[in-house]
Amino acid sequence: MPADLDQLKEKALNCNNCSLRQSCRGVVFGEGDPNSPLMFVGEGPGQTEDELGRPFVGMAGQLLDKILLAADLPRESVYITNIVKCRPPGNRTPTLAEMQICLPWLRQQFALIRPRFIILLGLAATHGILGPNFTMGKCHGQWFERKGILFMPTYHPAAVLRNPHLKKLVWEDFQKISSAVKQTPEQFNS
Ligand code: SF4
Repeated sequence: MPADLDQLKEKALNCNNCSLRQSCRGVVFGEGDPNSPLMFVGEGPGQTEDELGRPFVGMAGQLLDKILLAADLPRESVYITNIVKCRPPGNRTPTLAEMQICLPWLRQQFALIRPRFIILLGLAATHGILGPNFTMGKCHGQWFERKGILFMPTYHPAAVLRNPHLKKLVWEDFQKISSAVKQTPEQFNS
């Protein structure tokens, strides 16, 4: 495995392991604080992200920035990426097979960043990481432990833009996230 995130990024930018690479401009690796205890994983780059080579910079990303700031978790203090690093054609949902092929990049990001908390934004990321039987209505806002890391699914900001009624639920989830990140591991586990 590469020694640091920069080396991993350099390798990932040259990835051609699945057909998504043929229809996008480039690999969108992820960005943020490499020492953050908190990571966010979305579905995949959209058009703006593909154009700029950065995750969550379109309308959904701007909403995510606002929620992060309101929860006292400024964007630059967290690490943000997606479960597939290349834009699916027409912004369709990535298939489970595409997510499986891309997952080694995300796993290596987990291994290098070593976050305590990983927030799964939307059902695609939730299915790709926790399994296909999860429904957002039942699992959002709950912590699920896997190999010592706590995962929480919540609604994707794009879903909140489509359905403003989700705002309250997402805000409650982010309050839980903010409170968990500010506690020491001992306080959180007591
Ligand atoms: S989506 Fe992932 S696996 Fe597919 S080409 Fe892009 S970086 Fe590689």
